[in-house]
Formats: sequence, C-alpha cells, structure tokens
Amino acid sequence: MLLQANGELVSDPDHLTFIFSNIQEAVIMEDEYRAVKWANTSFTDLFAPGVPPEALVGADCDQAAVAAAPMFANSEEWLARTRQIVAEKRRVLHEEWQCADGRWLDRDYFPRIVDGVVLEHMWVYRDTTESHRSSAGIEPHVMLTDTVPHRGWESAAQQLIEDSGNFNLASPTSVVLIKLLILERLNNEFGPAMGDSLIDEVLARMRVAVEGARVVRVRGATIAIVAHGKSPAEIFARVHESLDPGLQVKGEPISLRYALGGAHGLASAADDVRVLLEDAFFAVSESAATFTDVICDEELRSRIRTRVDVESRLRTALISDEFELHYQPVMRLESREVIGSESLIRWRHPERGLLAAGEFIPVIEELGLIALVDLWVIDQVCRDLDALVERGFAPVSINISPQTLASHEKVAEALLEKLASTSHSQEQIVIEITETAVATDVTRSIEGMRTLGHAGFPIAIDDFGVGTSSFALLKDLPFDFLKLDKSFVIDLEQERVQRLIEAICAMAAVLGGIVVAEGIEKEWQLDTLRHCGVEMGQGWFIGKPMPVVEIPLSG
Ligand code: C2E
Ligand code: MG
Ligand code: MG
Repeated sequence: MLLQANGELVSDPDHLTFIFSNIQEAVIMEDEYRAVKWANTSFTDLFAPGVPPEALVGADCDQAAVAAAPMFANSEEWLARTRQIVAEKRRVLHEEWQCADGRWLDRDYFPRIVDGVVLEHMWVYRDTTESHRSSAGIEPHVMLTDTVPHRGWESAAQQLIEDSGNFNLASPTSVVLIKLLILERLNNEFGPAMGDSLIDEVLARMRVAVEGARVVRVRGATIAIVAHGKSPAEIFARVHESLDPGLQVKGEPISLRYALGGAHGLASAADDVRVLLEDAFFAVSESAATFTDVICDEELRSRIRTRVDVESRLRTALISDEFELHYQPVMRLESREVIGSESLIRWRHPERGLLAAGEFIPVIEELGLIALVDLWVIDQVCRDLDALVERGFAPVSINISPQTLASHEKVAEALLEKLASTSHSQEQIVIEITETAVATDVTRSIEGMRTLGHAGFPIAIDDFGVGTSSFALLKDLPFDFLKLDKSFVIDLEQERVQRLIEAICAMAAVLGGIVVAEGIEKEWQLDTLRHCGVEMGQGWFIGKPMPVVEIPLSG
C-alpha cells in the first residue's frame, strides 16, 4: 500500500509488477483504454515467446487478442467471449479454454472499477493441461483449489434440473457425489479408456444400488446421484455396499478409493437443485481431504465459502490495496528497549473489516497462492524499511511460508533485488520459518535456510515448541533466532515449563542462537521469562502490531 502526501491510498503498478513478475501464472494488465500497461514474462512465454514483456507496453489489447485468437481451438468463440467479458465489467474466474495444440488454459479476469469506470483490466492465465489430462478419466489427487464448481458443473446442473421434472419436487431431495480417487496409475498402466470403463461400471452399479435415483457423470471422475425419499447417509450405505467389495474392469480387479459427499433439502426450483449440487460438491471436496463421508452442513458451507471468497478476492485485494502490513515491536527484555519488529499482514476486507493473518493466511496457503502474498510482503517491508530503521523497528522479521521457501533461490533473489533499492543491508531483514514447516520437510527446509542465510539474511525458527521437531534436529538447523511459541507463555506459571525454557535458552546459546518469547501479555510474564534466560520478547504487553505511520518516532 502506498500513502500519498495527501493521505490518499494509491495503487502502484511497480508494486504489482514485482509480485507478478515472480509468479508462474501469466498476467497482463491493461489500462482504461485497453492498452497494455504491463505483462510478466510468464505471459510473453505463453502468448509471444521471445518477446520481452516491456515490448508489449502500449499495444492495443483488442488487436492483440485478434492476433492471439488462432492459438485457441475455438478462436472465434474465445475472441467474442473476451470482448463480452470486457463489456460486462464483471470478475470472471476459472474459465477454461482449450488451445489448438491441445493444451488447456484457465483464465481469470479482474476489473478495477472506480465510479463505474474500469481503470484497469487484469487477466490471469494458467496452464491446466495436466489436471485436464488426469480428469479426463481419473483424477490423480485432490486439488485443493478445486473448490469452485467448474463450467462442466453448469451443464451437469442443467441436466439434473431438466430431469427434475420427473421428481416429486415437494419432497426432500438428496444429492450425493462420488469422486473416484483412483490414481493416475490406472490411466498410466492401462490407458485412458480404462478410466472411462471404470466410470461406466460405477454408473451402472449405482443405478441398481440406489433404486429410482437419477445417476449422471458430472465432470471427470465425479458421479452425481439424485434421489427422493432417501437420506444422504442411506445412499452412502448403498454406495459402500456396492463398491467396497471392489470390482473388475476389463478383467482387471480394481480396488476403489473414492470420496463421498452429500446434501439434503427441498429442491422445488431449478436454483435449489443448483444449490444442492454445490453443497454436495463442497461435501465431496471435504471428503477427499479428510477421508471420511461428509454431509454438507452450515459450518462446512461457511468454511468453504470463506475459502472460495478468499480465492476469488485475493488478486483484487492485491490490486485494490486491501492488504496492510503491521509491525509488532520486539524488545530486549533486560533493558526493555525496542530493538526490532515482526511484520504481520492484515487484510482490510471490504465487508468483514480488518482481518488478522491467522484468519486468512491458512486459507491462502491451502489454495497454493501464498507466494503472491509473501512477495507482496517482501516488497512492502523494503518500502517501509527507512521508516522502520529510523524508528528503531529494524531488524524486521518477515514470515515466509513453506510453499514460498520451496523456491528459496527466487525468494533470495527477490529480497536482494528489493533491498538494493534501499540503503540498507541484509541484516535488517530476518526470515522466519515455522518449526512445523521445517519438520515437514527437513532436507528442503535446511536447503532453503542455507540459501537465505548465505545471502546474508538472519534466520528465525518461529513457533518453536509446537512442532514435532526434536532438539536433535536443532543442531542441524542454521538459525540465528529461536522464537518460543505462545503456548510456553500461557503455561508459564508451571515450574516445569520454566525449567524447560531455561534448558531451551541454554541449548540455543550453545548453538549460537538468541531466544525470543512470543505472546507476552503481562509484565510478570516478561520478568519470569527474563529470569529464565530469554533475551528478547514480543507481545501485547510490549506493543500490538501497528501500521508504520503509527509507530512513534522515538521507537
Ligand atoms: P506468528 O508469526 O507466530 O505471529 C504471531 C501471532 O501472534 C500474530 O498473529 C500476532 O498478532 C499474535 N500476537 C502477538 N502478540 C500476541 C499476544 O500477546 N497474545 C496473543 N494471543 N497473540 C499475540 P497473526 O497476525 O494473526 O498471525 C498469525 C500467523 O500468520 C503468524 O504467526 C504467521 O505464522 C502468519 N503470518 C502473519 N503474517 C504473515 C505474512 O506476512 N506472511 C506469511 N506467510 N505468514 C504470515
Ligand atoms: Mg512469526
Ligand atoms: Mg510465532
């Protein structure tokens, strides 16, 4: 977020260029008159290989679309739809197009509208060929981002709605979805026809097992069962009876793995069928992730809607400057002076107000979109660095998610690039990685920590004590700070917890690291931690996270 002298917030293309030039998705931004403002290299790689993105700036996007259309299998339809989207000024998500060469591209469109005028048009394309290949027959794994019903669902819903004339609409309807989770292996070993035969076999069995039900294949490896007079649980039982003994396809014994999700309610209008289908879709996604049969209820609906909401709003949030970075002071406990801070992201959600990181970061991580946010944070911290140093709030920590850390070289590059635009050095930025992330993939985490450490950035292990990592692991980790999880402070009254903290401090000292306690809410906690040998701390007693403009100059 940028603040002008007059206090107004402005959107800054440089900011976005930095973020989007470092991601794999192809992004292009057009101005009000549909001239290219900027594009990233992933975009030129896709649409104009060999052309540098700068060369596109100023080009007329409608003409460029005419030139690009032949690359799509339905070029005229693609072009007409593109123009329609621009005319409608509405956000579009997950529209899939097949290329003439067989690849699949999924696109999103985000308009930035001010007073009814579209000031910026942003298009995001990603290659989904792989997921198409797998969903043509059998989906190899559950895609967590697969929470929004796709275009294929529309036609399935339509089919069910047309069929619903056969049902007694006044009686409650159950919609159950079966998603076959059997493996790419099947297609790889026996060819894609095997997948189709399997689906046909399951369809046939379901028609017998759930008498009087309408059974249709929806998208890829998902089958819908719509029935009256039976609860989803009853249908689940029939499905298990029919499929669990396993089945033979083309003479091959197949042991099935499948997810089962259902919804139940009155379906007296076409829209109700759509809602039930969407609810069942939510349930089956949840089932695939949790390995249990799931019936959609209000809690699941709202949880998944949040996920969908975050996904659909995330990029507009970036363009519309809805993210803010707050800084929480870190204190040296002995002298009680502020010696740095931790950056914590906040989302000023247009409807839900200011959200703390804990409320949306896990969703963004689950959606696989955290790299966008982490890059935004890197950029923003570097923009704020002068002010932070001046106020005694540096070194400043940045939380890096494990997914982002997987591209550690890119992260180091992005950090160094941004830092070069400041007059400060690497010691001013500490990289925080949670202990849980480290424990999940020790080798890769150590590699990432080393890359960033060698680039000159101090490393902190965050939330230490909640993960499963052992003390033995610590000796192999290249860390400068060990951040004790809040739970230690919560249990600080216990004598044994104090002894444990002393032991951690002694061990960190041997390994050359400094211990920082998190979640200090009371003065006695600060004093006790200091007596246990903890050198630094942060928490509401010391200071809440605050925007840079609110940090007092005295620090
Ligand atoms: P964390 O890095 O361990 O951050 C500390 C969390 O404790 C923050 O929650 C902070 O607001 C909260 N906190 C600070 N002092 C106190 C206190 O005295 N008492 C209590 N009860 N809580 C306190 P927040 O901001 O919701 O962040 C949650 C987690 O989200 C962070 O845990 C961090 O892992 C992640 N996160 C935050 N900002 C970012 C970010 O910019 N990027 C990434 N990738 N993750 C972030
Ligand atoms: Mg942290
Ligand atoms: Mg922490």
